Amino acid sequence: MWVVPESEIAGLMTPEAAFDAVEAVFAAMARGDARNFPVVREAIGHEDALYGFKGGFDGAGMTLGLKAGGYWPNNAGHGLINHQSTVFLFDPDTGRVSAAVGGNLLTALRTAAASAVSSKYLAPQGAKVLGMIGAGHQSAFQMRAAVRFGNFEKVIGWNPHPDMLTRLADTAAELGLPFEAVDLPTLGEQADVIVSITSAFEPLLLDGHVKGPTHIAAMGTDTKGKQELDPALVARARLFTDEVAQSLSIGEFQHAAAQKLISESDVIPLGQVITGQHEGRGNAEITIFDGTGVGLQDLAVARAVVELAKEQGKATKVEI
Ligand code: NAD
Repeated sequence: MWVVPESEIAGLMTPEAAFDAVEAVFAAMARGDARNFPVVREAIGHEDALYGFKGGFDGAGMTLGLKAGGYWPNNAGHGLINHQSTVFLFDPDTGRVSAAVGGNLLTALRTAAASAVSSKYLAPQGAKVLGMIGAGHQSAFQMRAAVRFGNFEKVIGWNPHPDMLTRLADTAAELGLPFEAVDLPTLGEQADVIVSITSAFEPLLLDGHVKGPTHIAAMGTDTKGKQELDPALVARARLFTDEVAQSLSIGEFQHAAAQKLISESDVIPLGQVITGQHEGRGNAEITIFDGTGVGLQDLAVARAVVELAKEQGKATKVEI
């Protein structure tokens, strides 16, 4: 099997390769060529860790595998980031393990790619102002991908912990764009595209804040109980997601669904817009993409990085 260590990923994986891999796998899911398997996520009762697996099979890309890992909240004491993961790929013809790939940076890149793909298909025409809610580790990746694949002239941002806003200001400066810290009503009024990427457990962006036309990529909610958006805002918008079942159970739409403001038939897989099965934004004022994070995204970027690593002599072959 091929091993691609975490330390090699930054020099191998490009945002373009991540974007293409995620766009292709969302389309494969919509065509019924690829499916995610049920997610396992368990508190292990040690170090307050949450550990789990996300797997699937893409019959179009012939990619089979899983991402294993989770969240270890005390990792700073070990000099490590809290999210830790590794992707394992298997030969779909034989079941033999074919690759082990560091999954930490890939997770950030594939999550950012998913929201950028959603903006490509759903952002209002002529979107110029990007609004960022959240200023943690993922936010810089999100901003870089949004700017790379969009046509933004300005970034505005808000974070529940204002001391973290320097990350947004520094990332915007790196991208050559002006940045302004604003309150949420201003953000909701001025931003054409909003990316939310926090660990919030209650609504931050309220219905009254958002003046369309706006596209919102809600990327932070990936667990039961987390929440970034007002359910009334969700009920007013046209809704898209990576995986419908996940969005209603662990994604942002869990709350509006629990309050019976929306039902399963209101939520459209983004892949259907990519394949042309669904018109996408149409005449909707507000669109929301609920990015819950699916295993097939991880497998798609891992497969791409293994190919790049082999081409560039950065993958190590080991017998197992
Ligand atoms: P981080 O710990 O680096 O940053 C956390 C962010 O959330 C900061 O903006 C912080 O101010 C805010 N925050 C923390 N606690 C909060 C609270 N109680 N209420 C409101 N805001 C709070 O985290 P990160 O790595 O940037 O990840 C951000 C979120 O994205 C996490 O919830 C993570 O699970 C999620 N995530 C989702 C996907 C996906 O595929 N959808 C992938 C990776 C991460």
